[in-house]
Amino acid sequence: MSKKITKPQQTALQKERESTMRELQNLRDTLRIKVEVEDIDEVATELIERDQTQALIITLEEKLKDIEHAMEQAEVAGYGVCERCGKTIDPERLEIFPETTLCVECKLESERMARRQQLQRSI
Ligand SMILES: [Zn+2]
Repeated sequence: MSKKITKPQQTALQKERESTMRELQNLRDTLRIKVEVEDIDEVATELIERDQTQALIITLEEKLKDIEHAMEQAEVAGYGVCERCGKTIDPERLEIFPETTLCVECKLESERMARRQQLQRSI
């Protein structure tokens, strides 16, 4: 069952993409700025902050990938249709996460699987 993406949905995705890209740019700029620190405490704080920024950048990069993926999927298979089970994705969920290509159940399932893989890796 394929559903065509509507204009407002397309706009929402594009806006989400632009704001994510802008945010990414800002964060990368923050990382590029060299901060002069005097004492060791400041260095530690600075390192933690950089780590957090780095983590945020990775999260946003993934989000950007998801957005682009959702845009491609919208062309190929339709928008708002779960990639795994083919069910229609809850419109409220789509409004909050326009980049989603999975329904709630499949999303939870894939998170469970990712966690299991992580556990296996750490053993
Ligand atoms: Zn599903």
